[in-house]
Order: sequence, then C-alpha cells, then structure tokens
Amino acid sequence: MKQSFKIIDFHAHFPVKTDFSGRQIKIEEPPNENISHERKVESEKINKAYAEKLRSEWRLSHGFEKPISEKLSDEVLAKMWKKEVDKHNIEKIIFLTGGGNERLSKVVSMFPDKFIGFAHHNPHEIGADVLLRKAVNQQSLKGYKIIAPALDKPINDYSAYKTWEAAAELDIPILIHFGTLGGGGGIAEHVNMSPLILHDVAKDFASVQFVIPHLGCGYPRELLQLMWACPNVHVDTSGSNQWIRWMPEEMSVQSLLKKFIETAGPERIVFGTDSNWFPRGFSERYFLDQVRDLRDLNVPERYLDLIFYENSKKLLKL
Ligand SMILES: [Zn+2]
Repeated sequence: MKQSFKIIDFHAHFPVKTDFSGRQIKIEEPPNENISHERKVESEKINKAYAEKLRSEWRLSHGFEKPISEKLSDEVLAKMWKKEVDKHNIEKIIFLTGGGNERLSKVVSMFPDKFIGFAHHNPHEIGADVLLRKAVNQQSLKGYKIIAPALDKPINDYSAYKTWEAAAELDIPILIHFGTLGGGGGIAEHVNMSPLILHDVAKDFASVQFVIPHLGCGYPRELLQLMWACPNVHVDTSGSNQWIRWMPEEMSVQSLLKKFIETAGPERIVFGTDSNWFPRGFSERYFLDQVRDLRDLNVPERYLDLIFYENSKKLLKL
C-alpha cells in the first residue's frame, strides 16, 4: 500500500562479505599466552553454536527466511535490490557497507538513481582521510560508515581527527554504530559501546552530521543525552531493535520514537531498516511497524514526511 510520503531507507547493507573493522592493513593479533589453543577452539565452537541457535529463534519470531547461502555475483544482487526498491516505492536506498569502498562504488554505479553508497574504512589508520576524500571525490560515495565496537581504538582518539577534518571539508554525514553488535551471541562489551564517547568529537566538529542507528541500540538514555548536548547528532530507526527487551517493561519502539521527538524534534530522526540479505530483501515489517507506531502517536503528517524522506534527503544533499 502506498503511503502519503516518499521513502528513503537510510540504513541498508549490500549483501556481500564485509570486514566490520574496516581495516585496510590487517594486523596479526599476538597470541594470548594465558589461554591454550585447545581451550580457544573449544570456546569458539560453543559460542558459535549458541549464536546460531539464537539467530534461528530470532528469524522464527520475525518470520524471516534463512539467508540464501548461494554465492551470487554483484550484478545479480544489484538487480535483485533494484527490483525490491521499485516494488516498495523507495526513492533511494543507502548501502552503508558492501565489501569495501571500491566494490560498493561499482555496485551503486549500476543503478545510480536509486542506490547510494557510503565509504567504510577504519578512521584511525594512517591515510584514512585520503581514502575518504578519494571515496567521495572519485568513487561517488556520499557518506561514511563506522562500526565503533569493531575498532581497535576509542573512537575519540586523536588519531582519527584528520579523518573527521576530511569529513567536515567534504561535508558528508557519518553514520556510526554504537551498542551491541551483530545478532544473538554478538558483541556486548567494548570501549566504544556507549554513544557518549562521541561527545567531544561531535562538539569539536559541529558542522559534521552524525547519525547513530537503531534508536541507540541498548543505549537510548546515552544517545538522548548526546542529542541534547549536540545539535549535529541524529538517530536512525533501523533494525528489529530486539535490545528493547532488556529495558524497563514500558519501553517500546513507539515510546522511544515519542521520546526522541520530544527531545530532539522530528528533524533529527531518519528512517532505516538494516535490510541486507535475500530472500528477505527490503524488511517491510520494520517499515510497517514504524508507520503504525508513528500514526498511532497522532504525529502531524509533516513528521512522517520528515522522518521517512526529508531528513535523509537533507543529510545527503539530494
Ligand atoms: Zn546495519
């Protein structure tokens, strides 16, 4: 069913293998001499089985099919995504990751009127600023994506300041994942868990627009505080937001949307799904749930325009 507003999905991933750390130079981790090789292998096996169990339960509770295991070419996957975008009347879809800057750049060039790609590499590495300039100026990427709990340094480390400076000069938005990472059995502890660690960076680079996904991903209080402190911090609504189960009973996606509107206004909330693999494709379920949640809050129609379309359009300067 067609809604009254246009849609930009600000948060999706092109379904190819991507290194979360975004490191260009791989470093061999020194072996931890406090644990034997056998114990490590055993633990990995137990943790893997646990993660698989939780993830299959999660798919059942959401009605999602298991991702296809067959390897498809980028051309085939791009055509499948183009079909999805047309089917759901989506103006633009943002692929935050997709196998590195060069590869994603080629993918978005296949359907440039519908696909937008973000750069994704480690902000602390030497030359990260150069890579970012190349990504925007030569590879037509339109923003920068970072997965904070996969970095090897605190995100406010000064080694990334050159990269923030490049983003400021390029005038591009930066989307940074904070909070629990991955599906069940994923990462729950890291120096870059709370979005509040971005506080000084956001204050120092006030013209750079930062987007923090998944309604705070376990850290809604911290994200609300950060948004209260910094006018250049936005929130995206993407994902299943299963972390809300660990919050007080009365908290829901709807109550959070209300709280973000009250704190930051409707101009700093952007719609996203975290869509990724097939056969699921565009995760319509998240879209429909959020439309219902917002309509039931009786927000003005203008808010829907802003959240589902206008705010993203402005961030991306379309
Ligand atoms: Zn994501």
